[in-house]
Amino acid sequence: MERPNAWKKLNEEQLAELETVNAGYIDFLSECKTERRAAAKCIQLAQEAGYKPLSELVAAGTKLKAGDKVWADIYGKSVILLQLGTKPLEQGLNILGAHIDSPRLDVKQNPVYEANELAFLDTHYYGGIKSYQWVTTPLALHGVIAKKDGSVVDVNVGEDAGDPVFCVTDLLPHLGGEQMAKKGNNVVEGEALDLLVGSRPLVIKKDEDASADSSSANATNADKPEDEKTYAEKIEDMATKEAVKAQLLSVLSRKYDIEEEDFLSAELEIVPAGPARELGFDRSMVLGYGQDDRVCAYTSLLAQLAVNDPERTAVCILVDKEEIGSVGATGMTSAFFENTIAEVMELAGESGALPLRRCLANSNMLSSDVSAAFDPAYASVFEAKNSAFAGHGLVFNKFTGARGKSGSNDANAEYVAKVRACMDDAGVCFQTAELGRVNAGGGGTIAYIPAKYGMNVIDSGVAVLSMHAPWEVTSKVDVYEAYRGYIAFLGIA
Ligand code: MN
Ligand code: MN
Repeated sequence: MERPNAWKKLNEEQLAELETVNAGYIDFLSECKTERRAAAKCIQLAQEAGYKPLSELVAAGTKLKAGDKVWADIYGKSVILLQLGTKPLEQGLNILGAHIDSPRLDVKQNPVYEANELAFLDTHYYGGIKSYQWVTTPLALHGVIAKKDGSVVDVNVGEDAGDPVFCVTDLLPHLGGEQMAKKGNNVVEGEALDLLVGSRPLVIKKDEDASADSSSANATNADKPEDEKTYAEKIEDMATKEAVKAQLLSVLSRKYDIEEEDFLSAELEIVPAGPARELGFDRSMVLGYGQDDRVCAYTSLLAQLAVNDPERTAVCILVDKEEIGSVGATGMTSAFFENTIAEVMELAGESGALPLRRCLANSNMLSSDVSAAFDPAYASVFEAKNSAFAGHGLVFNKFTGARGKSGSNDANAEYVAKVRACMDDAGVCFQTAELGRVNAGGGGTIAYIPAKYGMNVIDSGVAVLSMHAPWEVTSKVDVYEAYRGYIAFLGIA
């Protein structure tokens, strides 16, 4: 069974639309490098498209009817968009799901240290990374620092041309003999992934006249009890032993009005710096950070926003924490999804536990996540007949998992047939695949979680080269076919 190259099937009009979709996608990747930024952008676009916040509708007791558009979020990290269909909710939803978190380095809660007059932020990586890929590349810092007074400082450094960037250092080859003989997963130890953030010492200018005087600043500091010192005075004290750390804390204090202790309640994510780009002389591909899974998130979002007056209620759910097992309040296993549907059903006049259960059981879902694109440089881990190829359209995975499909949602044949027919009817170019050769490895997605309600779920998505690397590669035509496939799916009966 040969699946055709998708580029060959597109007419001029479609090729123009392909470029528009991809230009928007490249901007989205560049702007939304964390789950918080992706969720905020999603909410902004939804609001512009007439979606109303569920929290306000619930507070006002506003009744919902066909055609109404609603959004809900949890902690600004996961988002659900719904457009009510003409059919009762109890008959089921058509759901597009994807995740908006990506592998990265997270800053630890007590991160700042100085070593040999260099200042670092200590990190703990998030998700599956190859540590060696994260050294000597420009890195940016995104996130929030929540202070005890309730205020939240937004941090975004390393993206603008005028911004400084950060990096993780590596050993020179001249001294790397022992390092290079190590196994790949030990070449760079996880604990060694610390971010270089400063090197300049804080220099306390001594006032010549005051230096002999007991009322000088330094003398006052020394005399003061520790708990009466201001933060600036403590930094001055620190400068006598750790002047580079003192300088760093002084800069952070001035820039963000934060103290070192405020890192205790911060979420700071370290990601590759700089925008996503077109790739190739023919500009046929996209190189960007976090395409797993923002390529499916963005195209699902676009499809959701493009649909008008569906028969079955159209839902787009973009979730956090997939890369670490879909756990926590903002992951797919959270009650957020079920609670949101329950609130919407209440406002739509379909309240009660049983209608909710029926609604969920009668739903169809495309659980979208990236697939490994066949890479000729590493052909031995793939089985070509059942691999995804860049440029061959939207990928469907009947199952995922590892070691005998373990951990997989295995979609029903009847449902696969229905989805296949839907794609063919809409002229969407698609392919089927599994993740690598039998026993070569494997992976999971969010699919098995909503499937627990008894709904039909199939894994789908876009093929990616260098998945989980700081810069991942997709084909523009696959981004476009995903968008078209998602629109078609929202109309499925
Ligand atoms: Mn993924
Ligand atoms: Mn992943």
